[in-house]
Amino acid sequence: MSVLVVGSIALDTVKTPVEEHADLLGGSASYAAVGASFFSPVRMVGVVGEDFPKAHVEYFASRKIDLEGLRVEPGKTFRWSGEYMWDLNTRETRSVELNVFEHFTPELPGSYVETEIVLLANIAPKLQSHVLDQVRQPRFVIADTMDLWINIANDDLRALLPRVDMLILNDSEARQFTGQTSLIKAGAAIRAMGPRFVAIKKGEHGCLLFGENEFFSCGAYPLEDIHDPTGAGDTFAGGLAGYLAAEERGNIEFAQLRRAVVFGSVLASFNVEAFSLERLRALSPADIDERYKMFRQMSQFEVLP
Ligand code: AMP
Repeated sequence: MSVLVVGSIALDTVKTPVEEHADLLGGSASYAAVGASFFSPVRMVGVVGEDFPKAHVEYFASRKIDLEGLRVEPGKTFRWSGEYMWDLNTRETRSVELNVFEHFTPELPGSYVETEIVLLANIAPKLQSHVLDQVRQPRFVIADTMDLWINIANDDLRALLPRVDMLILNDSEARQFTGQTSLIKAGAAIRAMGPRFVAIKKGEHGCLLFGENEFFSCGAYPLEDIHDPTGAGDTFAGGLAGYLAAEERGNIEFAQLRRAVVFGSVLASFNVEAFSLERLRALSPADIDERYKMFRQMSQFEVLP
């Protein structure tokens, strides 16, 4: 099965306490599509400007990502700049230049309309709904979101939720969205708004997965060195969606989602080891396998004799 990924494609400038890099390949769709491509065929929808380097397009193509839905518009590519504080957990957006992204309306090529797994990466919830208006009976729809939309497009986000199977957001966003301090209550409150499943990401502390009377707490792979956390959430969502597309034939149930969340976490753990998508570029399926096995061993609940 294939994954449809719709989101932003960006040129990012990222500053950490030790390094700063400009004009990096970024955007929610870039991370998510490449993440998913380690497991399944991917179809991408997004927009870039005429300044978008050809090498990046060639990189997507080399990952066998279908680019029929990638539009090149007159003007400049979306630019985002962020700065991380010393804990690499707190981030401030320094600047945003929407450029061609300002008038982006995702239109699906005919060949994408029947994609089974749909990943609505981080873009305005109204645009995410517009994508769902075009897909025909998807098997599973995952939506990611961010604090910006909770603040400025709350009603649109609430209108989207009954149409998705799973919402992914981080812990502070879940608290902000629901007004609940407890993440357990927040997960339940979001499920009550529509999605059967909710994943709440906790950065370096892993992720909580909620289903109907089902709960899974996934740790995070312990990394000594994090260079750039940008796109961890998008890579997580992409890995999760790609894994579901590769594995699943019947109804998607909690057991598959548990595994998908683990693979998403493994992919995200690689992504933060270098700036932009550099670590994903160098990643092999054997690396993923090896880390998955280590992660599983570390997460064993009972100590083996
Ligand atoms: P994350 O670290 O998961 O929050 O994702 C970071 C990526 O999101 C960066 O590569 C940005 O280019 C992209 N991004 C930042 N703001 C927005 C926005 N408002 N809409 C879509 N993508 C964004």
